[in-house]
Amino acid sequence: MIQEVNLTVKPEFTTQYQDGYPLISKESVVDWSKVKEEGTIINLFTQTKKFIIKGYHGIQNKGYGWILTHNQDEKIDVEYFAKKIDSAIQYREDFYNDNATTAFRVFNGEGDGIGGLTIDHFNGYYLLTWYSIGIYAFKSTILEALKSSVSYKGIYQKKRFDTKGMYLDDADDFICGDKASEPLIVKENGVNFAIYLDDGAMVGVFLDQRDVRKTIRDKYAKNKTLLNTFSYTGAFSIFGAIGGARKTTSVDLAKRSLPKTKEQFSVNYIDPESQDIIVEDVFNYFKYAVRKKLLFDIVVLDPPSFARSKKHTFSASKDYVKLLKEAIQITSKDGVIVASTNSANFNMMRFRDFIHKAFKELHGKYKVEESFSLPKDFKVNPKFKEGDYLKVVFIRKLK
Ligand code: SAH
Repeated sequence: MIQEVNLTVKPEFTTQYQDGYPLISKESVVDWSKVKEEGTIINLFTQTKKFIIKGYHGIQNKGYGWILTHNQDEKIDVEYFAKKIDSAIQYREDFYNDNATTAFRVFNGEGDGIGGLTIDHFNGYYLLTWYSIGIYAFKSTILEALKSSVSYKGIYQKKRFDTKGMYLDDADDFICGDKASEPLIVKENGVNFAIYLDDGAMVGVFLDQRDVRKTIRDKYAKNKTLLNTFSYTGAFSIFGAIGGARKTTSVDLAKRSLPKTKEQFSVNYIDPESQDIIVEDVFNYFKYAVRKKLLFDIVVLDPPSFARSKKHTFSASKDYVKLLKEAIQITSKDGVIVASTNSANFNMMRFRDFIHKAFKELHGKYKVEESFSLPKDFKVNPKFKEGDYLKVVFIRKLK
């Protein structure tokens, strides 16, 4: 049973919530002790008992909860969630009507009005991702709402919170409907992807890079060599190869990346043996490439925000300049570096500073060809800039 409690906001935080800032921070509320568990509905009031917002308590690294409505009388029930999901679907109408792309995000957390929850669509299957115990407490209500709003082949889930010590009767990722084939083949701008909805934390593709992949295929790849670092299942390599790249080289530390990348080539009728797929620490690979005097026409850099390997710790905010310098050295003149980061710790301006610094330190020259942020289906809340995490810059190396 979902509880509901009234809490008091510190005066200095009142206006930001009134203005639509969606994340409820720990320090903004006086009396958290009244809240017994995550998933509790919380009504925030000023010290003079004026209602400000209604939200829910859910702990994520980002905060202590998310705003649900500015209307005190609104009930957080099936109807509430269905209304949010319906308007999210309406916003993605173009995607539903596009046969060339069958994988896209339907609901993007606070961008669609409810932080802590995303819903992705994969060729008729839906994947719900719960980012806290708090939002997961609404599972049955949200499921009922989703079922009333879409026709589906099957519904899956991922829990992105610590389940240790919790009793869960739904340890499985599969929830209801038909099970998807393994792999499930979906399309993105006409290209196939092999997706696994029930095989660990990740399904095989990061949908937020869709426009970047298309750009590489349509405008950059033809007759070029492409090095894809932190390649995961090789999605950038696949688009490069289909765009006419002479050869792609994918480098990732994870052993599973090799069979996964081979599979992605195969489902697109490209012989994986015609491409290089290397399981290695990219920082070692850079050393090897410099020693062998290898040069690539396109170098894709898409590291995680933070990663620890046996020899290296990489943090995007601290080490991106270093990473760029490595890449610049093995990019041919007039070649292009596709520099990407999903770190919410810095914005595009700072990212452009990193690029500037890297070239300056190597006495190089460059030109920014174009840049990308999140695609349309990853709807962003204008009041929550942190949600606009993706930054991708196409950099031409001039010297
Ligand atoms: N570019 C990918 C997504 C990258 S996810 C895509 O478009 O699909 C991050 C990947 O970086 C993971 O697959 C992880 O195994 C890999 N990784 C992390 N640290 C690494 C390192 N030091 N060297 C090589 N790969 C690394």
